[in-house]
Order: sequence, then structure tokens, then C-alpha cells
Amino acid sequence: MADDQAAGRTILVVGGGISGLTTAVEAAEVGYSVLLVEKEAHLGGRVAQHYQYFPKLCSPTCGLEINYQRLKNNPRIRLLTLAEVEDIQGTDGDYTVRIRQHPRFVRDTCTACGECAKACTVQVPNPFNFGMNETKAIRASHAMAFPNHYFMDAEYAKGAEARTLVSLCPVGAIDPEMTATTLEEKVGSIVWATGWQPYAAEKVQPYGFGRFANVSTNMRFERLANAFGPTQGRLTRPSDGKEVKNIAFIQCAGSRDHNHLPYCSRICCLASMKQATYIRAQFPEAKVTIYYIDLRAMDRYEGFQKKVEADPGITWIKSKPARIEEDPATQNPIVIGENTLTGIRYAESYDLVVLATGMEPNSATTARVPAKGVAYDEYGFVVKGGPVLSTGCAATPLDVAGAVQASTAVALKAIQATAMRG
Ligand SMILES: Cc1cc2nc3c(=O)[nH]c(=O)nc-3n(C[C@H](O)[C@H](O)[C@H](O)COP(=O)(O)OP(=O)(O)OC[C@H]3O[C@@H](n4cnc5c(N)ncnc54)[C@H](O)[C@@H]3O)c2cc1C
Repeated sequence: MADDQAAGRTILVVGGGISGLTTAVEAAEVGYSVLLVEKEAHLGGRVAQHYQYFPKLCSPTCGLEINYQRLKNNPRIRLLTLAEVEDIQGTDGDYTVRIRQHPRFVRDTCTACGECAKACTVQVPNPFNFGMNETKAIRASHAMAFPNHYFMDAEYAKGAEARTLVSLCPVGAIDPEMTATTLEEKVGSIVWATGWQPYAAEKVQPYGFGRFANVSTNMRFERLANAFGPTQGRLTRPSDGKEVKNIAFIQCAGSRDHNHLPYCSRICCLASMKQATYIRAQFPEAKVTIYYIDLRAMDRYEGFQKKVEADPGITWIKSKPARIEEDPATQNPIVIGENTLTGIRYAESYDLVVLATGMEPNSATTARVPAKGVAYDEYGFVVKGGPVLSTGCAATPLDVAGAVQASTAVALKAIQATAMRG
């Protein structure tokens, strides 16, 4: 095949979460070349941060691992990590894209032996665990990171210690002198799969996230439950390490609210039900309370809801709490509001409160598409069917099964768009 034809048959996929990964492997496995661009050092997106998946309550790592194997075994996929698309020009079948690749400061020959991290004396807040613990300035993002190569924080690379690691690396992979590069690539179609970020809980001021130590969020709770998380999976509270035996979840914290995210993220009810099972499995005597407006467990997830509802250790209160106060003696959060069904006011004290915050598209903020004619809906999701295709949570809030279905389907749309010229 001539080079220009090959370019026309290349699909650019932006975002290496479960959605982008799925589109990339599906398109490559039917013969198309794929350029997969991920802004972080490793693939997997938010799914890599989850402890278990609803409804099966299995670990997400096996699903991710299967996709990493498919990607690794397919020479048609070219992966760029720490990279972002800066500019897009052209039309279906013939796009030119400019990509900025940030330095990793560690070459691909790295075997992830960990000798450099052992020698590194600089600790930084761990972004993978939402800053709830610290990690080394040279590291892999997490235990199951793919590609399995370390990276170095840019600030650390400037310091003297980084240079001392060069001779320490058994395979000579460390290079603090690496610089950013700009690439120009020809592709035939583009799929935006940049996913979501947790809604900033501190914006929901009456609930005191950021002010009260024992008010957390659903994504932080995923990391707390994880054996590779900040507490090695022990469900303890931040203020004093006490085991969490009495916990409340507040649904729609900043969702279905015109002051915050006006839409429903679809997964938060299920996520809290799933997280209630984490607590009940670890501490069978623990009490869980879920405050909700109405419960949404669509389609086949009703069975999962019924299973969780059958647990006598979980209390369901139809109410949107008005506010949270903190008991100064115990640092217990006190949830205050009125029960919608009984009209009775309550002020209940808990060890920990988890805010079930929703999903905000990255395309609303950090991952805008640098191309003309791209349509966004009123919330910043990339509208499907534009010149740049979209999938997964870049297009709409979805669970993983929905994201995988949408991303398999968009691979076909991308192939069609590529064929406009190829
Ligand atoms: C608390 C909680 C629990 C959940 N639990 C479950 C569950 O148990 N089961 C389930 O089915 N679903 C669950 N979900 C939903 C699940 O997280 C999503 O369905 C899934 O993350 C969607 O994947 P994605 O690839 O579309 O987005 P993401 O996972 O967000 O991946 C997007 C990728 O794009 C990258 N990216 C972002 N911007 C750029 C850019 N500018 N350039 C290049 N790359 C970029 C990101 O780094 C990331 O790797 C849960 C959600 C929440 C909030």
C-alpha cells in the first residue's frame, strides 16, 4: 500500500481509557492502522482506579489486561503516551494532526525493576489516589500500569538527584535531559474518547468536602477499598484511621442540580450500592445509610439493586440532605435534612460520609477538540456524528458495558470515514 493510502487508512483515537482502547483494538483487528494518543503516562483511564465493577463485583483489571494484550499483540496500533493533540486540519479521509509529546524521562527499555524508585528520596502527593497518600517522583502510576515503564515528574527531572539515577538504572533507561517533541501525522478519521473527571465536590459547599476530614467522594472511596490504595484496602477514615462502621452515602451530590451538573450521570446510584457491599463485606456489623432522591438502576441492573436492597444492614432514606456539620469532639460528620416520605427532620452522625458525585466530560474543560465544526452539547459532551467522532464518556455518561458497546460501534463509523479517500 502506498504511504498516502496507509495514512488515509489510519484512525486517530484520542484517550486510552476503556472506550479508546476498545475502538483502537476493534479497528486494528479488522486491518486498520490506529494511532492511540493518551495524555497520561499509562492507559486505563478511570476504570483502572475502580476497586470492583458492578454488577458482578469483579476486579476491572482482567478486562483491562485483555485489552492490553490485544493491543500489545497488534502491530497496527501505535501508542503515544504523555501526548495531546494540539491541532487538527482537514476533512474525513485526509486529516493532518499536530501532537505534542511530553517527555517521560525514561526510555521504553525500562523493565520497571523499581531500583530508581528505591533510590529516589522525593515524595509527591499521589494523583492516582487523589493525593490521599504519597508516592515517589519516579514511578509507575499504579501496580498494573501499562505500558509497564516508569516515568519521572518534570520538576524532579530538573533536580540534581535525577541525574544520579542515570548510572543506577541497570538498563540505562533514565534520561532527565529528554525534551518535548511535536509530531505531525496524517490520519483518515478521528475518534474523541477523552472520558470524564469527577465533579469537584468542594463546589457543593453545604456538604463540606475539603473542610471536613471525614467527608469523602465516591472515587476516593474506590481507592480506599483497593489493596493498592492509600490504606491498602482497609476502610478507615482520614481523620484518625478509625474503621468505618457507620457510613452514609449522599446521592446526586452536585447532580440533577441546576447550580451544578443538571443531568444524571446514570452510574452513581449503582456505584453507591456497590460501595455499600465493600463496607458490608469488610465489616459485617457495619451500618450503611443511603440518602437518595430516587434510585436509578437501569435495565438489567435492577437485579443488582434488589440484591443490595435485601441486605438488612443498609437503610434507604428518601431525602436530599440540606447540609453536613462536623461534631468538633469526634470529627463525625452530621447529616441534616428532612425525610421526604415521613416529613421527619433528622441530624444523624456517621464515621464517614461519601458524596456520590457525577461525571463531568473532560471535553468541557481540559480536552476540548482543537478542530473546526465540532459540536458540543450544553454540558460539554462531544456530539456524536460531527467531523470528529466521539465515544464513551466523552459523548455521554455511561457504565463500562455501555462504553464498550458504543466504542465498538464507533470503530465502524471511523472505518467508514477513513474510507472517504483511502
Ligand atoms: C464512582 C464511580 C464508580 C464507577 N463504577 C463503575 C462500575 O462498577 N461498573 C461500570 O460499568 N462503570 C462504573 N463507572 C463508570 C466508568 O468509570 C466509566 O464507564 C468509564 O470510565 C468510561 O471510560 P472512558 O474510556 O469513556 O473514560 P475514562 O475512563 O475517563 O478514560 C478517558 C481517557 O482519556 C484520557 N484523556 C483525557 N483527556 C485527554 C486528552 N486531552 N488527550 C489524550 N487523552 C486524554 C484520560 O487520561 C483517560 O485515560 C463508575 C463511575 C464512577 C464515578
